[in-house]
Amino acid sequence: MTNELAAIIQSMGQWLLVPFGYALDAASRMYWLFWCSALGIALLVILYSQWRDKKLHLGRAMVQLFSPRHWWRRSTLVDLAYLFANSLLRLGIVIPLFGSHLLVTLWVTRGLQSELGNAPEFALSGMTVAALYTLCFFLVEDFSRFGLHRTMHKVPFLWRLHQVHHSARRLTPLTLFRVHPFEMTLYYLRGLLVFGSVSGVFVYLFGGQLSGWDILGVDALGFAFNFLGANLRHSHIWLSFGRLERWFISPAGHQLHHSRLSEHRNKNFGTCLALWDRLFGSHLPAEKQRPKIAFGLSRRPILRKTVQG
Ligand SMILES: [Zn+2]
Ligand SMILES: [Zn+2]
Repeated sequence: MTNELAAIIQSMGQWLLVPFGYALDAASRMYWLFWCSALGIALLVILYSQWRDKKLHLGRAMVQLFSPRHWWRRSTLVDLAYLFANSLLRLGIVIPLFGSHLLVTLWVTRGLQSELGNAPEFALSGMTVAALYTLCFFLVEDFSRFGLHRTMHKVPFLWRLHQVHHSARRLTPLTLFRVHPFEMTLYYLRGLLVFGSVSGVFVYLFGGQLSGWDILGVDALGFAFNFLGANLRHSHIWLSFGRLERWFISPAGHQLHHSRLSEHRNKNFGTCLALWDRLFGSHLPAEKQRPKIAFGLSRRPILRKTVQG
């Protein structure tokens, strides 16, 4: 019994160290390269804003970017607490309980095989199959994220849980992890289902040699999304995509989603593509002007200036 307890405590200690490894994991938005690219883009946004106001000053830009007044906040400590607690629950309970992505893929492939027999033959090159798989995976992944996020807002019980994410008064990239454990579990199951079903169908149709476009072992489109400043979605940097707002959810678009002003409520549920929000009537393009945005859930609006880009 004492040995079992010691083993559990040892495992928990190892699980608590896992979030530190995110910095070296290209599949995580916390990967060092994504932090560097986001900081680089953020610095350019601030410098551009200063240049436009004829107040260009690199030192002031760095202070604005790294100011402890933004980063060293209770809200950020709460984000960190959720990061470690959710990592512990995910590794200790959720993954052992629901299995791995590969198991689900195998399950879907075998299910299709036994229900439909052998798949028809397709004369497609490996390159075409890889492109099709990458695109299908990206679209299903992005739409399922939109669908689950929208549901978290629309169903009162789920909204109560999702309020944990919206309770952040300061947005930093760590706010990504500020989610109720039940919501974390739902997103894990969503990921299992999407990966397992898309990969399972493709393995059934095109065989086990299936591969998609990847960078450092991560799907190429997801990598590109993270590299192009996904970490700025939760930040104090206002970056609108201008004319591309019609097509993509910008970091500023997600910040509008976190705004507690009534005109921004239930807008921009999407992650990458704006298409789903446009189809469901919840799209709100972010303007280029610097807004005063209130983050959090308290009744009294807390107006914060953001850096214009
Ligand atoms: Zn939300
Ligand atoms: Zn968010």
